[in-house]
Amino acid sequence: MDTSEANDDTLGIEVILPDGGKPAPCCPHGPTLLFEKVGKGGEKGRRFYACSACRDRKDCKFFQWEDEKVSEARVLAREAENQSKRPPFTQQEYCKRFRKFASLPLDEKKFCQDCQILLLPAEREAHSSHRSTAVTAAQLRRPSAMLRPLDNKKSNAQYLFTDRSSHFLLDTLAALGYKRVLCVGTPRLQELIKLRNLEQSHEPMKSLLLDIDFRYAQFYSRDEFCHYNMFNHHFFDGEASSAILQAFLTEADGEKVVMVADPPFGGLVKPLANSFSLISQTWGKLQSSDNSNSDMPMMWIFPYFFEPRILECFPSFTMLDYQVDYDNHPLYKHGKTGRKQSPVRLFTNISPRDVVLPKEEGYRFCSVCQRFVWSLNRHCTKCNVCPSKDGREWKHCSVCEKCVKPSWRHCQSCSRCALPDHPCGLTEGKEGCFNCGSLKHKRKACPVKDTHRVSRHRPGAKSGAKNVSHRHVFKAKGKRKSGAARRAKKMAALSV
Ligand code: SAH
Ligand code: ZN
Ligand code: ZN
Ligand code: ZN
Ligand code: ZN
Repeated sequence: MDTSEANDDTLGIEVILPDGGKPAPCCPHGPTLLFEKVGKGGEKGRRFYACSACRDRKDCKFFQWEDEKVSEARVLAREAENQSKRPPFTQQEYCKRFRKFASLPLDEKKFCQDCQILLLPAEREAHSSHRSTAVTAAQLRRPSAMLRPLDNKKSNAQYLFTDRSSHFLLDTLAALGYKRVLCVGTPRLQELIKLRNLEQSHEPMKSLLLDIDFRYAQFYSRDEFCHYNMFNHHFFDGEASSAILQAFLTEADGEKVVMVADPPFGGLVKPLANSFSLISQTWGKLQSSDNSNSDMPMMWIFPYFFEPRILECFPSFTMLDYQVDYDNHPLYKHGKTGRKQSPVRLFTNISPRDVVLPKEEGYRFCSVCQRFVWSLNRHCTKCNVCPSKDGREWKHCSVCEKCVKPSWRHCQSCSRCALPDHPCGLTEGKEGCFNCGSLKHKRKACPVKDTHRVSRHRPGAKSGAKNVSHRHVFKAKGKRKSGAARRAKKMAALSV
């Protein structure tokens, strides 16, 4: 095992990526990941296997010490359990069902909301006590609007792009000449690609959705959906699915391929990066020899505060200023209590100057940085960058010789910039929590680290309103607290 890879972002727990040695035992979500507890002084604890996809034991209770002897009976029980968690139909059966369903007359097309499944006439009786709805042809093309978004906070919450963000993504990829989009955890993007193909005015694009949510299998053909776990690069249908990915990544007829991934934000960066690298390697092997050293074009959608971790894994990536936002975030639903800006960004190895961010939403091109930036992200001539990460206007501190958040002040006794009410003198040589900004703990111990999915729809933004304010990130109503406290409180409020 390569322990140099073994630092990740769970509470004092590091993940050790598989090195092709001893195979990990499987839970219903495929091969588990090997973790290691790390004590305060850095001493290593006992290693154990746990689920790759679920951070909460309530969602997947798999646990096994690395050196544990597992009885035959337990192995068999586990296999039975894994089997019982399989989807009710195979991908082939789903496809057949879909064709049947599509050919039904309108008044026979029903969707069972309780079971989240398209009903064939013979099945309606069995679901008669459930809530079911009629399905129009238009609805059938928008599964992400029909399926109830999964809302499991820790492992598998689904946050769907606003029209503004999904159209921006698609238009950008089309403008860059990509013809094949590998959608990893982006069902709404895949859906939009297919809808756009129906309009004759565009050159068609192909898409393949890889997602753990097998409800989507009902709506797509064999070569449009694979049941996949992005934390361990596991295809639930084995070889058949990895062959579909291979075929998709083979850029037949010179059709350029790009990957767009929007993983759950509670997810571990290292295993995700590992899976995306494996996808890129598969792509690389299929390239002609003159192109075999290049990287597959990718976009990874994640909050800005993960920038250092993502760049650690993918040094060639750039974080773009574009703010991705979502339709169904609780804050959006519950009115005006939340942030005005989304903290979610695009990380990409596509040249940032080629990703044109919409002027009418307040982005501009910085000719020095050679990238599009948010209007409040002013170029600093001393740092020679557009420094802002969070969308606010940062300011230069001549003592620290770098740009800092607007709420920070230079502190003489700490000889660094910090929040005005930081615990002074306690932080020499230490950085605060990377997640919430608190100086009292490190990110690993952050009490609100699982609640990153924070975003808000910006009213009017998609209609191109010019004066939409993106300004007040993290700004709390009422009495002002420290930035860290405010953020912690807000993040905590999100986790209900
Ligand atoms: N914004 C996207 C949805 C992102 S939500 C859109 O609008 O299309 C995260 C997505 O990742 C969901 O579709 C969810 O089903 C999927 N997902 C969550 N955990 C996963 C895992 N372990 N492997 C693969 N997909 C996963
Ligand atoms: Zn599991
Ligand atoms: Zn600049
Ligand atoms: Zn500066
Ligand atoms: Zn300073």
